[in-house]
Amino acid sequence: MALAFDEFGRPFIILREQEKKSRLRGLDAQKSNIASAKAVARILRTSLGPKGMDKMLQSPDGDVTITNDGATILEQMDVDNQIAKLMVELSRSQDYEIGDGTTGVVVMAGALLEQAEKLLERGIHPIRVAEGYEMASRIAFDHLERISTKFEFSADNIEPLVRTCMTTLSSKIVNRCKRALAEIAVKAVLAVADLERKDVNLDLIKVEGKVGGKLEDTELIYGIVVDKDMSHPQMPKRIEDAKIAILTCPFEPPKPKTKHKVDIDTVEKFQTLREQEQKYFDEMVQKCKDVGATLVICQWGFDDEANHLLMHRNLPAVRWVGGVELELIAIATGGRIVPRFQELSPEKLGKAGLVREKSFGTTKDRMLYIEKCANSRAVTIFIRGDSFNETIRCGTGNKMMIEETKRSLHDALCVARNLIRNNSIVYGGGSAEIACSIAVETAADRHPGVEQYAIRSFADALDAVPLALSENSGLSPIDTLTAVKAQQVKDNNPHCGIDCNDVGTNDMKEQNVFETLIGKQQQILLATQVVKMILKIDDVISPSEY
Ligand code: ADP
Ligand code: MG
Repeated sequence: MALAFDEFGRPFIILREQEKKSRLRGLDAQKSNIASAKAVARILRTSLGPKGMDKMLQSPDGDVTITNDGATILEQMDVDNQIAKLMVELSRSQDYEIGDGTTGVVVMAGALLEQAEKLLERGIHPIRVAEGYEMASRIAFDHLERISTKFEFSADNIEPLVRTCMTTLSSKIVNRCKRALAEIAVKAVLAVADLERKDVNLDLIKVEGKVGGKLEDTELIYGIVVDKDMSHPQMPKRIEDAKIAILTCPFEPPKPKTKHKVDIDTVEKFQTLREQEQKYFDEMVQKCKDVGATLVICQWGFDDEANHLLMHRNLPAVRWVGGVELELIAIATGGRIVPRFQELSPEKLGKAGLVREKSFGTTKDRMLYIEKCANSRAVTIFIRGDSFNETIRCGTGNKMMIEETKRSLHDALCVARNLIRNNSIVYGGGSAEIACSIAVETAADRHPGVEQYAIRSFADALDAVPLALSENSGLSPIDTLTAVKAQQVKDNNPHCGIDCNDVGTNDMKEQNVFETLIGKQQQILLATQVVKMILKIDDVISPSEY
């Protein structure tokens, strides 16, 4: 229906013919929706786990991304089916809330829908299925709590934290350096963490990357790294005990705007104007020096003449620094951002023990390191590119590696943060899912109603994660799963999982494969919610294609 106006301004209503719309109702709608969601889950299934495959995605403008991260794969995929978009949202919310487990959550939702389809075909009403799933998810949720363990760590004993981050990284392309990267992630999180309030502000951790060097050269800097250099090559490369003026106002004489008119018709007039401009800038520099600044960081630029003058007056400066960086610098150095030049005063200066410009090898690249800041609670992880991956050794390989390393580190940082917030863990490798599956299966017997079918199906769906893990590791899925499940029941040990890396034991406790409890619980909750939502849609009306 649309409202339109004729040439005299009178409104009239256009009714589009209903037959032109495509419409799916009842079971057809549910089946079609389930099929779309399953298609998305199938794509991610092969990416799950330490032996999971990576995806190569090409954006419309030709940029190539290689990634193993579920949220990123879905984000970059161009889906235009509405239900498929829900799965994208699902992965995104897991990413937002937890940071890790973005692939697993979609695989789980796909499996739940696959089971639901079978139930619908057997004539069970979607609402019954949804209710059964809800009950089952609560059972699984509580069971996770029961099999979880607290694990202790402190600022001096970070080994357990490092281990957990290593599990997260082991399924990523960067797993060759997982130890080093996990240590960096944990140290970074601890540096900004508020252990008393059990909170971590991840915004204080900046992740920077630069092509070149090796992945092993990735380092943690207790300070800020800015991808800028001193405005003049002859300015000092190293400033100790720097007092930094952080300016978001122009650092140059006011330029005549288009509205003003300056008539310069004689050489003298030009000379005076030039002298005045120079004097004006000279005063600005003097003002900076008077308040005690030894370094100026500006959001805007200044021209070459000003640059030259700054060099002469021995006031190092950095220009064209982005707003986000400026804010971080201000937080780290305890300085204030100065938006109007007149407001510059000594107490607004930021303080840093050392500011240095670092150049990389023979390249022209330089970066500015701001270290030993007054407020040391801002750190930077500086990733170096790597060309170890033969398949992507082409020119852009390094850049793609850096991007993927950033995403993998994000997962590791989130895991460390989650553990600081809540230090309960469950074991990975599908062991927690198998344990829940057994618990849910047993609970189904206690429900006399139709829901018991849905609850049993939920238990079957939980097996999807260990099945996918073993399939991706080249094991025979059904055989492996039944063996592990039998072992869990026999030994009453919820730590048996899939031995993906062929270590020789499938006790995940021995293998040190953890995941956070809240991450796993969130996966189950989110997957169930989305599945319930999809099951409750029984009428799909979409505009017809013209
Ligand atoms: P997600 O995006 O869901 O985190 P991953 O590709 O990171 O997906 O895979 C996570 C799954 O892999 C989890 O179920 C985790 O327990 C499992 N996993 C990770 N490392 C190992 C390992 N070394 N052995 C067995 N399973 C592992
Ligand atoms: Mg992961």
